[in-house]
Amino acid sequence: METQLLEGKKLAEKMQSEMKVRVNSLLEKGKIPGLTVLLVGEDKASQVYVRNKERQATKVGIKSEIIRLPETISEAALIEQVEQLNEDASVHGILVQLPLPKHINEQEVLRKIDYSKDVDGFHPMNMGNFLLGNASALPCTPYGIMELLKAYDISLEGKNALVIGRSNIVGKPMALMLMEKNATITIAHSKTKNLKELAQQADVLVAAIGRGHMITGEFIKPGAVVIDVGMNRDEAGKLIGDVDTASVMGIASYVTPVPGGVGPMTITMLLDQTIKKVEAE
Ligand code: NDP
Repeated sequence: METQLLEGKKLAEKMQSEMKVRVNSLLEKGKIPGLTVLLVGEDKASQVYVRNKERQATKVGIKSEIIRLPETISEAALIEQVEQLNEDASVHGILVQLPLPKHINEQEVLRKIDYSKDVDGFHPMNMGNFLLGNASALPCTPYGIMELLKAYDISLEGKNALVIGRSNIVGKPMALMLMEKNATITIAHSKTKNLKELAQQADVLVAAIGRGHMITGEFIKPGAVVIDVGMNRDEAGKLIGDVDTASVMGIASYVTPVPGGVGPMTITMLLDQTIKKVEAE
């Protein structure tokens, strides 16, 4: 079987060029979408993600700002920053880059974002609304994956979908979105037994594990759609996914490459949700 790549990068570029048009028509009405990212500490990966977000936001015309805060900042001082942004009418989207340093309670901070400015979909109000089927912001990574599947006309109805990983930001919301599209879902995690057997029954497999090349061809049902969320570094420092892409070629019907698959879609959905906030005003 020929395996087709699900090219997130290409779709992201197409969506972002459409976004430029949307932002221009907002500018004509005197509205400039604003996105502010709070980055605490010196985490290398977070710095790269945040810079990427800023660069791409600027490219589509969003006014983007990064507020860099020291690792030692107290929870109260960070919350104060969030509250200032809540009050600032020029800021439509607030994003607190995770993870935060250990001494800060992430949930407490996320809870303090005005939920109408939450463009990551992590505020408990948005999470709750999402669970009830009427979200105003969605977690960007699974949302981007759903857009990718839609763009390639991949039907989910009646399919067996296995999501490996149960984090709040990827695994859990991913499973729910697949269920909404009428897939039958299984969620696996580090305590799951017989992962390989489960995987071999999956028509759609989403790997959101954080373990480089853990999913090899022998996990894959012939013809399955394989989504690789993982972003890991190998010994040489190269970015690799959770899926050993080369070994699933010829078995899967579709697979997302790393890089160039899920990552660019995640950022694109963040931009989309920021622009939507202004469009809805
Ligand atoms: P977490 O570490 O929060 O979650 C990982 C999940 O994988 C957990 O549920 C864990 O199980 C499960 N797991 C770990 N080891 C195994 C195993 N051996 N077998 C089965 N399940 C296992 O990670 P995230 O969800 O935040 O991220 C996952 C990956 O996706 C990372 O590589 C991350 O960098 C990447 N990522 C990529 C994004 C993108 O835009 N492309 C965005 C966000 C994340 P348990 O719950 O039992 O511990």
